[in-house]
Amino acid sequence: MNVADSGILSAAMEAAGYRPVGDPAEAGVIILNTCSVRERAEARALGRLSELVQFKKNNDAVVCAVGCMAQRMGTGLAEKVPGIDFVLGTEQLFQLPHLLARRNGVPIVATDFQDGLDWAEFPPSPDCPYSAHVTITRGCDNYCAYCIVPYLRGPERHRQPQAVVNDINRLVGKGVVEVTLVGQNVNSYASGDVRFPDLLRRVAGETDIRRIRFITSHPKDLSDNLIDLFAVEPKLMGHVHLPLQSGSDHVLEKMFRGYTYSHYRRLVDKLRQARPDIAITTDLLVGFPGESDDDYRQTLDAVRDIRFDAAFMFRYSVRDGTWAAAHLTDDIPDAEKLRRLQMLIKLQKEISFTVNQREVGRVHSVLVDGVSRRDKAIWKGKTEGNKTVLFPGNRDMLGKILTVGIERADSWTLHGEVAA
Ligand code: SAH
Ligand code: SF4
Repeated sequence: MNVADSGILSAAMEAAGYRPVGDPAEAGVIILNTCSVRERAEARALGRLSELVQFKKNNDAVVCAVGCMAQRMGTGLAEKVPGIDFVLGTEQLFQLPHLLARRNGVPIVATDFQDGLDWAEFPPSPDCPYSAHVTITRGCDNYCAYCIVPYLRGPERHRQPQAVVNDINRLVGKGVVEVTLVGQNVNSYASGDVRFPDLLRRVAGETDIRRIRFITSHPKDLSDNLIDLFAVEPKLMGHVHLPLQSGSDHVLEKMFRGYTYSHYRRLVDKLRQARPDIAITTDLLVGFPGESDDDYRQTLDAVRDIRFDAAFMFRYSVRDGTWAAAHLTDDIPDAEKLRRLQMLIKLQKEISFTVNQREVGRVHSVLVDGVSRRDKAIWKGKTEGNKTVLFPGNRDMLGKILTVGIERADSWTLHGEVAA
């Protein structure tokens, strides 16, 4: 979501006559889009902001903290990091181009959910020239017990299908071939009687975009209608990110996730029936209050049972203002949270390695999106399943969808050769 928001803000800044530079030392305006989902994300953003205000010495740069941490801390953030000029929350950040002229030596703070500019009026700018994120839903109504997002991003609001289609047509005109539709829970998308699968059908049918992805799917709202689309819509890439969080029904209930493990398991079976080679990735959270050894073992069992292609794995971080922070004791010691996390990561790494070995000998369609950082003769791209592939290549391949034969695989990356 932050990538998408940064794209919209970039587009708004460029529309107002600003242009991006590659180095903060050259910038007249420096913007940091922040995340509050875990304490560590905030600690990193604070560290980065303290570094960025140093650039004011060079050229009196304007320093702006925007997004979730700005929303959460408001004026407190400007006090904590002297030198910040603007603190703009999750709905106010798009005002920045208009507010810049009002800079007057004291920090300007705006964190209202209402009265923001209509963020939808700015078409997103692509993340790379070939791939872009397009927001379809803002906010979240789910209030999972551990999660700060609904408090910082406000209630769920859905964009008009035509606005989404228009954005994508504009992006296609700029050479974009892949789009990722974004929302905290895309499966609850509803605009009039257009539900998420209908929106996907419209995007597939009314634009020339070649690859469609979406993130994130909430298991409680993943419909059979959407699953069926994987069987028939070739533009829909074979990847679903479906956060499980925990394999224990007891923990899932305390998290207010709204599904059981067996419900989740059935979704996985149906997805694999609809699209046999579909990649399924997930988020897992260990150390939630009251998570017993047995609950944790059920998460490990779930990971062994489902064999995810990949997972983002986190240890529980108390977020003030959430239901869990107010009502549950953070009773798993940090060292134990870390032990559980490390064991889980080790298990998932082995599984990703084994799962990826199945790719060896197969051919994949790959969108080439850049050059390897280590070796300038090696290029990289993403398979339909969103796995990174490295292969010998050249600049002419950038932005093309090529057929790549996979020769070798490790836990996080595939290695191959472009087919003739
Ligand atoms: N809307 C998305 C999740 C956004 S947050 C969804 O529901 O799938 C991304 C991930 O961060 C979550 O899936 C969860 O695993 C993790 N997360 C959220 N709050 C957290 C917290 N307080 N501590 C640790 N991890 C957290
Ligand atoms: Fe957070 Fe749950 Fe909303 Fe995802 S669905 S953003 S985890 S409250």
